[in-house]
Amino acid sequence: MKYCKKCLTTNLRPNAEFNASQICIACEFAASDYTPQLASDKNLRDLKSWISQLKKKNQFKKYNDQYDCIVGVSGGKDSTRQAHWVRDRLGMNPLLVCGAYPPKQMTSIGAENISNLISMGFDLEIVCPAPKSAARLSLEAFRLFGNVCKSTELALFSVVPQVALEKKIQFIFWGENPALQVGDRATLGVNPFDGSNLRSLNTLSDGGIEWIEKCVGRKSAFYRYPSLADMNKKGINIVYLGPAWDDWSTFENASYAALQGLTLRPESMRETGDTSGASMLDEEFTNINMMLRYFKFGFGRATDDVNEAIRSGRLSRTEGAKIAQEFDGVCSDEIIERYCEYTEISVNEFWRVAISFVNQDLFSVASGQRPKPLFKVGHDFD
Ligand SMILES: [Zn+2]
Repeated sequence: MKYCKKCLTTNLRPNAEFNASQICIACEFAASDYTPQLASDKNLRDLKSWISQLKKKNQFKKYNDQYDCIVGVSGGKDSTRQAHWVRDRLGMNPLLVCGAYPPKQMTSIGAENISNLISMGFDLEIVCPAPKSAARLSLEAFRLFGNVCKSTELALFSVVPQVALEKKIQFIFWGENPALQVGDRATLGVNPFDGSNLRSLNTLSDGGIEWIEKCVGRKSAFYRYPSLADMNKKGINIVYLGPAWDDWSTFENASYAALQGLTLRPESMRETGDTSGASMLDEEFTNINMMLRYFKFGFGRATDDVNEAIRSGRLSRTEGAKIAQEFDGVCSDEIIERYCEYTEISVNEFWRVAISFVNQDLFSVASGQRPKPLFKVGHDFD
């Protein structure tokens, strides 16, 4: 396992890419002209000009003379900021679309935060999967891929372009560009705002969707990401806002959203490993996924958070490594018990499956214990 020399991204991250000096693409980007802190006005102008080019090319028309774009929201910290930013900075009128978690999975904080968005004066369309098939798919994805959120993530990303197609709303705005924020090479587009390759995001493309069709039959429509041909036919564009945003980061978004009434995570970071207190507030099984990802690839959510802080100069690489070493992979027994209840399996069965996905080159595994890392965060490991 090799680490980026500037941050703590490892070469085991799916679709990661390092340059000849062992620097990841997110760090390369942070040091380029597009560094938001260096050139925010220019970036905003570039974004606006990209939007007008796309408008011209696709003979832009508002939907019902009312909405000119969709902002995909979850009720978390990024949603609040994105909705405001599109309205206030771009002067556009968004329809918010939320691919929601089924009632049993959504937390009450998630529901409160969605209400908070509506009370700010936005129109919101919520699409929610059938609860029983959602639970079955979560368990199936856990067994097949060691990923308890794969189907919900697919739904969350797919519902938004589905609604755009149905209503022919030509712009979809997302916040982060995954290529530039976390280094997913496959999603790079023709410029930092271009989201046409979002469909190649590891989480969406890896494993196909045949397993979903097999598991829940016709209820799989909800989880299907629209084809590129269909999107092009209706002139629908996906645009990332993050690169034009002078202070887009987990940290800044959480502070902004909290000041706008967002409810933060009440549990301690000793239970969830969430060092921001503001990640993925709308459901709690993501914490399990972050732990599983840590066992598979050697990096967890704390690494993602500190990487941002390192690139923005708020933390040194050494300080970041200490935090990641302590909080990567943290997830309380209580959260795991609630997941077992949700999917109707025993805690023993949970760990049997979880252990089968542990990378045993990186972790030592002993019965009755959680896997222990053999590596030290930030140090290349053979
Ligand atoms: Zn890096």
